[in-house]
Amino acid sequence: MQKNQIGRRGVMKRALTVLGAAAVAPQLLAACGGEEAAGLSCTDTSGLAAAAVTTRESQAYADSSSDPNKKCSACNFFTAGQANQCGSCSVIQGPINPNGTCNLWAARPA
Ligand code: SF4
Repeated sequence: MQKNQIGRRGVMKRALTVLGAAAVAPQLLAACGGEEAAGLSCTDTSGLAAAAVTTRESQAYADSSSDPNKKCSACNFFTAGQANQCGSCSVIQGPINPNGTCNLWAARPA
Protein backbone atom coordinates (compact mmCIF):
# COMPACT_ATOMS: atom_id res chain seq x y z
CA MET A 1 0.00 0.00 0.00
CA GLN A 2 1.32 3.46 -0.91
CA LYS A 3 1.83 6.13 1.70
CA ASN A 4 -1.21 8.34 0.85
CA GLN A 5 -3.66 5.47 0.42
CA ILE A 6 -5.88 4.53 3.28
CA GLY A 7 -7.07 1.01 3.76
CA ARG A 8 -10.41 -0.25 5.02
CA ARG A 9 -9.32 0.27 8.60
CA GLY A 10 -8.50 3.90 7.85
CA VAL A 11 -11.88 4.48 6.25
CA MET A 12 -13.66 2.87 9.20
CA LYS A 13 -11.62 4.92 11.66
CA ARG A 14 -12.50 8.19 9.90
CA ALA A 15 -16.17 7.25 9.64
CA LEU A 16 -16.33 6.49 13.37
CA THR A 17 -14.66 9.82 14.14
CA VAL A 18 -17.28 11.71 12.09
CA LEU A 19 -20.15 9.76 13.64
CA GLY A 20 -18.77 10.40 17.12
CA ALA A 21 -18.62 14.14 16.48
CA ALA A 22 -22.21 14.12 15.21
CA ALA A 23 -23.38 12.36 18.36
CA VAL A 24 -21.66 14.84 20.68
CA ALA A 25 -22.63 18.04 18.79
CA PRO A 26 -26.14 18.47 20.30
CA GLN A 27 -24.72 18.20 23.83
CA LEU A 28 -22.11 20.82 23.05
CA LEU A 29 -24.78 23.12 21.62
CA ALA A 30 -26.84 22.84 24.79
CA ALA A 31 -23.80 23.53 26.95
CA CYS A 32 -23.06 26.65 24.92
CA GLY A 33 -26.60 27.98 25.31
CA GLY A 34 -27.68 26.86 21.86
CA GLU A 35 -30.75 25.44 23.53
CA GLU A 36 -32.46 26.50 26.72
CA ALA A 37 -30.71 25.08 29.74
CA ALA A 38 -31.98 21.64 30.67
CA GLY A 39 -31.83 20.77 34.34
CA LEU A 40 -31.55 24.41 35.46
CA SER A 41 -33.23 24.95 38.83
CA CYS A 42 -34.62 28.39 39.69
CA THR A 43 -36.61 27.52 42.78
CA ASP A 44 -34.53 29.07 45.57
CA THR A 45 -36.77 31.63 47.25
CA SER A 46 -34.75 31.84 50.46
CA GLY A 47 -33.85 35.50 49.86
CA LEU A 48 -37.41 36.65 49.20
CA ALA A 49 -39.87 38.34 51.53
CA ALA A 50 -42.87 36.24 52.52
CA ALA A 51 -45.22 38.36 50.41
CA ALA A 52 -43.08 37.76 47.30
CA VAL A 53 -43.11 34.01 47.94
CA THR A 54 -46.89 34.14 48.36
CA THR A 55 -47.29 35.98 45.05
CA ARG A 56 -45.01 33.49 43.35
CA GLU A 57 -47.07 30.60 44.70
CA SER A 58 -50.47 32.19 44.09
CA GLN A 59 -49.56 32.75 40.46
CA ALA A 60 -48.47 29.11 40.26
CA TYR A 61 -44.90 29.76 39.17
CA ALA A 62 -43.45 26.46 37.94
CA ASP A 63 -39.85 25.82 36.98
CA SER A 64 -40.95 23.91 33.90
CA SER A 65 -43.85 24.70 31.58
CA SER A 66 -45.98 21.88 30.25
CA ASP A 67 -46.98 24.16 27.35
CA PRO A 68 -44.01 24.76 25.02
CA ASN A 69 -45.73 27.94 23.77
CA LYS A 70 -45.99 29.47 27.24
CA LYS A 71 -42.46 29.44 28.59
CA CYS A 72 -41.02 32.35 30.55
CA SER A 73 -38.46 32.79 27.78
CA ALA A 74 -41.32 33.87 25.49
CA CYS A 75 -43.07 36.02 28.10
CA ASN A 76 -43.22 39.80 27.95
CA PHE A 77 -42.16 40.08 31.61
CA PHE A 78 -39.03 37.92 31.37
CA THR A 79 -35.43 39.14 31.32
CA ALA A 80 -32.86 36.49 30.45
CA GLY A 81 -29.88 35.84 32.70
CA GLN A 82 -26.39 34.82 31.64
CA ALA A 83 -26.04 31.60 29.64
CA ASN A 84 -27.24 28.63 31.68
CA GLN A 85 -28.41 30.91 34.53
CA CYS A 86 -31.81 31.88 35.89
CA GLY A 87 -33.40 35.04 34.56
CA SER A 88 -35.74 37.49 36.23
CA CYS A 89 -39.30 38.70 35.87
CA SER A 90 -40.82 42.13 36.31
CA VAL A 91 -43.92 40.77 38.10
CA ILE A 92 -42.72 37.62 39.90
CA GLN A 93 -39.75 38.07 42.20
CA GLY A 94 -36.93 35.56 42.56
CA PRO A 95 -35.00 33.43 40.09
CA ILE A 96 -36.93 32.58 36.94
CA ASN A 97 -36.26 29.60 34.74
CA PRO A 98 -36.47 30.32 30.99
CA ASN A 99 -38.38 27.03 30.75
CA GLY A 100 -40.76 28.05 33.54
CA THR A 101 -44.22 29.56 33.47
CA CYS A 102 -46.96 31.07 35.64
CA ASN A 103 -50.56 32.29 35.44
CA LEU A 104 -49.44 35.78 34.41
CA TRP A 105 -47.73 34.64 31.19
CA ALA A 106 -48.18 37.20 28.42
CA ALA A 107 -46.76 36.86 24.92
CA ARG A 108 -43.84 39.08 24.11
CA PRO A 109 -44.84 41.43 21.29
CA ALA A 110 -43.36 40.46 17.96
S1 SF4 B 1 -44.93 36.56 34.35
FE1 SF4 B 1 -44.83 34.38 34.82
S2 SF4 B 1 -44.57 33.42 32.80
FE2 SF4 B 1 -43.98 35.57 32.58
S3 SF4 B 1 -41.77 35.63 32.95
FE3 SF4 B 1 -42.80 36.06 34.89
S4 SF4 B 1 -42.89 34.05 35.88
FE4 SF4 B 1 -42.52 33.65 33.71
